[in-house]
Amino acid sequence: MAKYKQLCSRCKKNYVPASWRDRYIQCHDCQKKELSTEIEDKEFKKMFDIPEEFYKENSFLRSIKIKYIRFKSLTERQIEAFKETVKKRKEN
Ligand SMILES: [Zn+2]
Repeated sequence: MAKYKQLCSRCKKNYVPASWRDRYIQCHDCQKKELSTEIEDKEFKKMFDIPEEFYKENSFLRSIKIKYIRFKSLTERQIEAFKETVKKRKEN
């Protein structure tokens, strides 16, 4: 991922590591409340149970979790990508 940062679209205070594809991006502070929403589904609860650090540093992981919280479902591809990203992060 490119070392590119974009100003948070919501608070316009914090810079967020972003890729050129991210047009509307929010910082961890702005998304914190929504991210802490309780997840009832066992499988997803387990999948999203990763260190808070990962969410802090990775806007992609945050966006997937928020998508799930809002729509209560994810596509196979999104699930795969989430797991893959977490796996890579753990290896580093
Ligand atoms: Zn913000």
